[in-house]
Amino acid sequence: MLSVTTTLGNTMSIHDRYRLSVVINAKGTYTPLGVYRSPDGVAAAVAQALPEFFVMDELGDRASEAIAQVTGAQAGAVVHCTAAGITLAVAATMTGGDPQRISALPDTTDLHNRVVLPASHVVDYGHTNVQGIRLSGARVDLAGTEDKCTITDLEAELDGPDIACLMLVSSRLTKGEPIDLVAAVRAAHRRGVPAIIDAAAQFPRIADLLATGADLVLVSGQKYLGSPTAGIVAGSWPLVQSVRAQEKGIGRVMKPTKEAIVGVLAALEEWQAFDRVKWEADELAKVDAFVTAAGRIPDVTAEVVPDPAGLQVSRVLLKVPDAKRLATELEAGTPPIYVMTDRVDDNELMLELVPLSPDETATILAHLWTALT
Ligand SMILES: *Cc1c(COP(=O)(O)O)cnc(C)c1O
Repeated sequence: MLSVTTTLGNTMSIHDRYRLSVVINAKGTYTPLGVYRSPDGVAAAVAQALPEFFVMDELGDRASEAIAQVTGAQAGAVVHCTAAGITLAVAATMTGGDPQRISALPDTTDLHNRVVLPASHVVDYGHTNVQGIRLSGARVDLAGTEDKCTITDLEAELDGPDIACLMLVSSRLTKGEPIDLVAAVRAAHRRGVPAIIDAAAQFPRIADLLATGADLVLVSGQKYLGSPTAGIVAGSWPLVQSVRAQEKGIGRVMKPTKEAIVGVLAALEEWQAFDRVKWEADELAKVDAFVTAAGRIPDVTAEVVPDPAGLQVSRVLLKVPDAKRLATELEAGTPPIYVMTDRVDDNELMLELVPLSPDETATILAHLWTALT
């Protein structure tokens, strides 16, 4: 854990120093809880960057090269976060690299300004992606329904006037029947329309998502990559340049910091160096052991659940008599324990264990025993 040295010379945790709650986050890469944990090497690189000056365009170029090398994309850019990436990717499809158009946004007069989004891909990660798109000045045309959006539904919207791009989401937050992303991207390309995939919490799958043919894929560095907060945009050279060019327009309020870019560079290096096959096996073993232990608690059924969007991360599903009460008790405990509560109405709680230490998973099990027996 990161600690700081006080003026008295003794070390004190950052939580103690600023009177902050120590929590156990089994909710996944969740923004209100600080998202994820950065490895020590990333933290060290960020600390090294903070007192230094840089030519920011150079940092942007090095980030583009590193993103291209790791993902196989032609180019990459770092922006403030993926929410910013959504706004700026849409802006790029409307303005291209034209400085006048870039400075005119969010005024989209005379621009193709309609974004097609499947209704089942409207997601809320703190605000909705519909607002994220509209922040650029674009308008949103929803295709299909919340439960189902077929390729025919998409084509009907894509055939409308003034289409800027197709926006798709790869996430466990989407609703209804899954959409065939390859077919959706093809439907856009047949009409000369670029396709963007928001895969904020899917960094490990970024190459697969680029392989759909999407022009841009957006991921959050601070989720499974473990960088500081940063939106990574990977994709075609001209569109990525147009995303970077937004810094002289609406992108000014969504710019990446020097420490974020350096943190992304360091995190990408660590990502390439580490053994992902072993990591996936270790994570699955952690989930399996937890499920076995939780299944011994009276009235609890525990299962291993794979990620619905194809991420190589499994989660723990707990079926319990009164899930709402249990979640409230866990959050009120010491330390507070946060779990996924989207299915409490079905008396189900979901836990993600990826960033948690053995001590933390043991604490969760102990609190479950206390609350349920
Ligand atoms: C987290 C998330 C976002 C927002 O990402 P930030 O980097 O926090 O802005 C967007 N879309 C999806 C699907 C997400 O999960």
